[in-house]
Amino acid sequence: MNEKCFAMKKTPTREGVCSCLEKRTCPGYMICPFYKPVWVQERDRRRKFERLATLPEAQQLYIAEKYYQGRMPWRGDEV
Ligand code: SF4
Repeated sequence: MNEKCFAMKKTPTREGVCSCLEKRTCPGYMICPFYKPVWVQERDRRRKFERLATLPEAQQLYIAEKYYQGRMPWRGDEV
């Protein structure tokens, strides 16, 4: 698999800058245990939001306040 990692900042080369890890230099997707292609990240995000939407209202409000600055992106409430 050699698809672009979701954490890679936009640079002309693949050995660029990682936006997630403390050590900013990406060693390359073949040796990084945190590599995740963009499409997998998007799929995981979609699944997470589908799951959040099934929770009781009070739990959704709690999660929205704690992690999303009061917004509920799983309901289309994006920034
Ligand atoms: S492969 Fe690893 S180091 Fe490179 S951008 Fe992705 S998460 Fe960061």
